[in-house]
Amino acid sequence: MSNRSVVVVGGGIAGIQASIDLANMGFRVYLVEQTPSIGGRMAQLDKTFPTNDCSMCILAPKMIECAGHENVELLTYSELAEVRGTEDDFKVTVRRKPRYVDLTRCTGCGDCTEKCPRRVPDEFNVGLGKRKAIYLPFPQAVPRKVTIDEEACLYLTKGRCRVCEEVCQAGAIDFEQQEEILELEVGALLLATGFDPFDPASLEEYGYGKIENVITGLEYERLICASGPTGGHLERPSDGKVPGAVAFIQCVGSRDVNYKPYCSSVCCMHATKEAILANEHYPDLKSFIFYTDMRAVGKQFQEYIIRARDEYDVSYVRSRPGKITVDEETSNPIVWYDETVYSEAGDPVRRVTSLEVDLVVLCQALVPHTDHQEMAQKLGLELDESGFIAIEDRLFHPVDTSVAGVFACGFCQGPQDIPDSVIQASAAAARVAEILSLEDRELEHA
Ligand SMILES: Cc1cc2nc3c(=O)[nH]c(=O)nc-3n(C[C@H](O)[C@H](O)[C@H](O)COP(=O)(O)OP(=O)(O)OC[C@H]3O[C@@H](n4cnc5c(N)ncnc54)[C@H](O)[C@@H]3O)c2cc1C
Ligand code: SF4
Ligand code: SF4
Repeated sequence: MSNRSVVVVGGGIAGIQASIDLANMGFRVYLVEQTPSIGGRMAQLDKTFPTNDCSMCILAPKMIECAGHENVELLTYSELAEVRGTEDDFKVTVRRKPRYVDLTRCTGCGDCTEKCPRRVPDEFNVGLGKRKAIYLPFPQAVPRKVTIDEEACLYLTKGRCRVCEEVCQAGAIDFEQQEEILELEVGALLLATGFDPFDPASLEEYGYGKIENVITGLEYERLICASGPTGGHLERPSDGKVPGAVAFIQCVGSRDVNYKPYCSSVCCMHATKEAILANEHYPDLKSFIFYTDMRAVGKQFQEYIIRARDEYDVSYVRSRPGKITVDEETSNPIVWYDETVYSEAGDPVRRVTSLEVDLVVLCQALVPHTDHQEMAQKLGLELDESGFIAIEDRLFHPVDTSVAGVFACGFCQGPQDIPDSVIQASAAAARVAEILSLEDRELEHA
């Protein structure tokens, strides 16, 4: 019988869906996730287009189902160290980073977090707000166990404190914990390592990092989310004021040969969603979406845009702004852009104009995950010209990578939204099952 075990790398929605499917088909799944919890980027979103369903309400039951499945072994806070072998016979070395917390004892009560004196920027909230050195990344984290950040902890960096150890009734703190190395033998690998947001600071003309009230789409998602750092109040960074006018700027770094030539695929829709949410929270709030051209190709997407325009007072402005300046007195960003107007003779004329708003949201390009290249090298995988995992035969084998026995789904093989990532995850799970079952049938007939 062939090896019926699979390593899935990346515990975002794609990795979770693929793991559940494979586990339901009777395969043993090792789900390797490098952060302390599964969930990926979807966990950071407030709502999802085009239904405006609460993102966490859909994701959390999937996370629990995946972690609780008898055929899934969750390896969080872990990374691939080495991969040897080919086709249906891989030897995978996984490195489990020390959490300094005994997972079998920690109850997730949070007493340690409450008393920990050390605060650092909270990556889950994209740096808006702080977390403690011993922390649960977000309230619905799976597993619901805390982790000590060794770069922030006062004891691990300066040799003093140990408050968490004193307050933990379960005796779960373990400062002696060491890195663990696991050797796994599997029949296939399935990659679902997702994306990172592109840093828009390199587009200096938009002033990100310099103009306080210029933020990114992911920051906006955390601000408008009820479980975010402001409790869902859309407070702008400079003074906490709720904005009256918001400008969303599309294709920041995307569809731009100077940065990323490709379309990031989800930004037209997430900006529309974010503008709708802003108006739902504050009916007097007016949104302007500056777009290159609206890409609304999914089911009910065009209707969503029409609703945004007709019911939520969203204005779509076809223009790519050239610059953002700031009114120093009010801290209001001013968006400069080309507008097409018509002369009396009816000829189109372009003129430079500006719009003052209270807040600007940059919908930045989404790029392959930072570790992506290193992982590709370990596996001998080919990447495409934009750095996503190359798929050789998109027509008939849309989840097969350049290495036999290694498959890819979700954003790591190209920009795509949640429904497409889920479809692709199920396709990849089916493909793994097909390959591994085929080997069984060949053995039977031998
Ligand atoms: C601002 C914003 C709003 C959005 N809104 C919507 C929306 O409303 N609706 C919608 O459909 N889509 C939306 N999207 C897109 C959506 O986030 C993606 O489609 C989805 O997250 C893709 O899922 P994924 O599992 O492929 O990747 P991810 O969610 O990125 O998950 C990848 C996981 O892999 C882990 N990982 C990465 N590298 C490694 C490694 N080497 N080892 C182990 N683990 C690793 C990561 O830590 C992460 O947990 C939005 C995106 C943005 C930026
Ligand atoms: S480490 Fe101890 S105090 Fe902290 S959450 Fe776990 S059980 Fe509670
Ligand atoms: S020892 Fe580290 S993690 Fe524990 S309370 Fe002190 S700073 Fe926080």
